[in-house]
Amino acid sequence: MKINISPDTILVGIGVSSGIGIGQSHLLNRSRVVAIERRLQSEEDVEAEVKTFLAAIAHSKDQLDVIKDRADSSALADHLYIIDTHKLILEDQMLIDETIGWIRQERLNAEGALQRTLNKFNEVFAGIQDEYLRERRSDVASVGDRVLRSLLGITQQALTDIDGNAVVVAHDLSPADTMQIDKQKIVGFVTDVGGRTSHTAILARSLGIPAVVGLETATSLIPANVPIIIDGDEGTIILNPSQETFREYLDKKQQFDYCEQQLKDSANLAAKTRDGRQVALRANIELLDELGPALEYGAEGCGLVRSEFLFMNRSLPPDEEEQFTFYREIAIRMAPHPVTIRTLDVGGDKFVADICLQDEINPAMGLRAIRFSLKEQLLFKTQLKAILRASTFGDVRLMFPMISGVAEVRQCRQLLNEVQAELDAKRIAYDPQMPVGIMIETPAAAFIAELLAKEVDFFSIGTNDLIQYCLAIDRSNEHVAYLYQPLHPAVLRAIKAICDGAAKANISVAMCGEMAGDPVYTLALLGLGVTEFSMNATSIPRVKRIVRLAKVRDGRRLSRLILKLTTATEVADFLDNEMRIRFPTAF
Ligand code: PEP
Ligand code: MG
Repeated sequence: MKINISPDTILVGIGVSSGIGIGQSHLLNRSRVVAIERRLQSEEDVEAEVKTFLAAIAHSKDQLDVIKDRADSSALADHLYIIDTHKLILEDQMLIDETIGWIRQERLNAEGALQRTLNKFNEVFAGIQDEYLRERRSDVASVGDRVLRSLLGITQQALTDIDGNAVVVAHDLSPADTMQIDKQKIVGFVTDVGGRTSHTAILARSLGIPAVVGLETATSLIPANVPIIIDGDEGTIILNPSQETFREYLDKKQQFDYCEQQLKDSANLAAKTRDGRQVALRANIELLDELGPALEYGAEGCGLVRSEFLFMNRSLPPDEEEQFTFYREIAIRMAPHPVTIRTLDVGGDKFVADICLQDEINPAMGLRAIRFSLKEQLLFKTQLKAILRASTFGDVRLMFPMISGVAEVRQCRQLLNEVQAELDAKRIAYDPQMPVGIMIETPAAAFIAELLAKEVDFFSIGTNDLIQYCLAIDRSNEHVAYLYQPLHPAVLRAIKAICDGAAKANISVAMCGEMAGDPVYTLALLGLGVTEFSMNATSIPRVKRIVRLAKVRDGRRLSRLILKLTTATEVADFLDNEMRIRFPTAF
C-alpha cells in the first residue's frame, strides 16, 4: 500500500555506499517469481520437462554472457567475476541434480521443481552464521529467479532502459542488474533487502553510486516518479523534499562531490612531511574487491592482508593453490609496492564457519591467531607455502598475528624454514629474503619489544587488540565500549615502548589498527616513532593531508607532551585542541 507522501518524508535504512543522489523515484519490478507446482502426466512429459529445465539453464548462461560482454567499463572490470560466480551457480551439480530429481521422482513441472530446490538452498544459507556467506543467499536467489523467468517466459525491464536522474527503488537488485547501471542516468538506488557485504553493495561502492539498502518496505511505500533524495552516508531517503531541504541537500551534494574529488586528486601526491620524511600509507585488505579502490585512494601497497577472510566464505579451507592465486593477485596488482600478508587470525571475534574452533569460555584469550596456527601445523604450513610461492610476484612480506613471546616467533621461523626446505626440494621458487614481521597486539609483546625486535624484520602495531588487551576491554562488548580508549596513557606508553624497542634494533614500525586511520592521531604517532600506517583505504587521503602539513619534529614534541598527561580524556582534549590549532583547514 502506497502512503500519501507528505513533504520531507524520511525513511531510514542502511547506507552502504556514500554520497548524495537527487532525482525521481523509479520503481523496478524485481519481485521474486512465484512458481506454481504442477504434476506431469506421462513419462514422456517428464523427460521433456528435464530438457526444458536444462535449456532454461543454458539460456540463462547466455544472458549472463551478454551482460558480461557489455559491462566493459573499467569501474566494473574487477567485478566481472560476479557474473562468473552466477554462471558457476548455474552449473552447480547439486542445483541441477536436485531439481531433476524432483521432476523425475515427483513428476513436477520444471519451475515447481526448481522452486523446491531454491527453497531448500535458502534454508541452508539462512542458518549460516557468517554474514558474508549468508549474503551469498541473494546470489543463489537471483540466479534461480533468472532461470524461473526463462521457464515462465517472463521478461524483465532492463536497467539500461531507464531515463536520466533516476533513483532506482527495487526489492533487491541482482549484481547482474547493478552491472548494467549507467552512472549518467542512475543517481542512486534503494532496496528493501541487503546488507553491507552483499555484492550489490560492494559494486555500488566501486561505482561510486549512493545506495541505501535494507529499508524492508521501500517498494511498497515509495510511489513511482516522486522527487527523492538519497543520502548514502546517513542511510536515509527523503521523499517529496521541501524547497528548503532540496537546497540543503544540493549544497551537501556539491560539498561531498568537491571533497571526494579533492581527496582523490591527492592520491598521486607524495606522503611526505614538511621536514622531508616519506611516510608509507597503505591499505588494509580483506577482499580482492578492495584493491581497485585502495589504489584509487592512493594506497602504496597493503600493510595488512587479513588472510582469514579467504577462509570465511566457504565450507572447506582454501587449498595451497587457491591461497597462492589469491596472494599472487594482490602482490601483482600492488607491485612495486609491498604487500604484508598476515597469517590466519581466527578465534576471538573472528569466526570462521568450518574451522573447528572449540567453544571457549574466553575466546579472546584462547586458541586464537598464531596459537591456532601453531596447533594446526598442517594448515599453517600450507598457508606459509602459498605465501612463499607468491613472494616471487611482488614485494611480499609475511606477518604473524598476536605474538606474545620470543619462543613463539622462533617456532614460527622453524616451521617457515621447514616449508622453505620442502619448496627447495621440489625446486619451487620463492623469495628467500622475504621480510618476516610480527603484529604487536599484546601487552607482553609491547613489554619485550626490544627482545622481539632482534628476531624479526618489522613490527606492525595492531591497536584494535592492543587496546583490548592493555585495558582489559572486550573490543566487541558494547557495555564496556566507553572504556575502549586509544588515548589511554597505558596505550600511549605501550606504543612508545614498541617504537623504542624497534628503533634500537633499527627495524620499522607500522601501525595497522584503526588508530592508524584517524588523522587526529597522525602527528602524535609520527612523533612516537610510527613509520608506516595501514588503514581502510578511504581514510588515506585524510591522513595524507596531515602528513603533508606536518613536521616529525613537531610530532616528537607533541608526543612528549601527551605522555605527561594522566587520563585518556585529558589527552583527547589536548590533542583535539592542538590539531585544530595546527591544522585549521583539516579539522
Ligand atoms: C588489530 O588488532 O589492530 C588488527 C589490525 O588486527 P584485527 O583487527 O584484524 O584483529
Ligand atoms: Mg588484531
